[in-house]
Amino acid sequence: MKKSKRISSEEALELFRSDDIFSIGRRAARLSGQLNGKKVFYTRNIHINPTNICINRCRFCAFSRSRGEEGAYELTVQDVIKKLKKAPPFDEVHIVGGLHPDWPLAHYTGLLSSIKKEFKGVGIKAFTAAEVDYMQQTSGLPFERVFEELKGSGLDVMPGGGAEIFAPSVRKKLCPEKLTGARWLQVMRAAHNAGIKTNATMLYGHLESYSHRINHLQKLRALQDETGGFQAFVALPYQPMTSIGGHHTSGTEDLKCIAVSRLFLDNIPHIKAYWIMLGEKLSQTALYFGADDLEGTVIEERIAHCAGASTESSIAENRLRTVIERAGKIPVRRDSFYREIKSKNRMAR
Ligand code: SF4
Repeated sequence: MKKSKRISSEEALELFRSDDIFSIGRRAARLSGQLNGKKVFYTRNIHINPTNICINRCRFCAFSRSRGEEGAYELTVQDVIKKLKKAPPFDEVHIVGGLHPDWPLAHYTGLLSSIKKEFKGVGIKAFTAAEVDYMQQTSGLPFERVFEELKGSGLDVMPGGGAEIFAPSVRKKLCPEKLTGARWLQVMRAAHNAGIKTNATMLYGHLESYSHRINHLQKLRALQDETGGFQAFVALPYQPMTSIGGHHTSGTEDLKCIAVSRLFLDNIPHIKAYWIMLGEKLSQTALYFGADDLEGTVIEERIAHCAGASTESSIAENRLRTVIERAGKIPVRRDSFYREIKSKNRMAR
């Protein structure tokens, strides 16, 4: 992708401070059109959260529990397989969960290989950088070996969770329990070097300033220049129903954040509008502010809903396609690597 006209941090700050969201949106939509035309990508995916038991207990996380606490759960590999067998057709399994105190690396590799064995041709997007960091620490293996094991067992791509906001001063208040921003970037660099594509995220609308957001985007852009391993970026609006408090972001703030991200991250091919957090209508509008990906059918999302997301926890494929078409765009069902899937197969088993 061309880098000659990329916007500077100063310009990004001006855009964040501006109220002229239509001009910013038009500019972002133009760049999105150059990259992806009228195509809007989605995936038929199912979310699996194997456990909510987590040693971290980040203060903004409403999903996690301590072992023995009411509501704590852990799924066996067989439980996961059973769930998937009952699910509607899917092309990708999305797996993220807590940092379980007793699960060794072999548990995760066993989960991946069992899914791959049972559901042939299905993609697996799994484990945040926080989870992989934990696997590295518990196994004592270098990241290269951890990724070798995960990839060899069926890991295709990684989601971008755990990035939150990199600025140490904010992170210290928001999630001091979590891996540092520098460590998140280190895990992603190692994943990319191991040939595993990932997403990137930014949690916004809590304690951060516009400068913190730009610093975050700057670090992502620099790593992408180096590795080219990010497939998509997702700006995640903070859900205030947690112990940090705060308030919901406005629709205009959400659209502006998507548009500025599209413009600033000129080297990341896709910008997602995560309908689970934005809702259907704002996600549809986001397609005119630089987004070109609506995530997916997302069967049974738990994490954002534990934090108070008021949207549905899944959406039928036909409905998702209609949302895209009614915005005047072309829906493209994709696999984990953003390759178009044309087959009408329910799924390969
Ligand atoms: S955000 Fe992730 S690491 Fe933090 S408590 Fe929740 S599940 Fe655990």
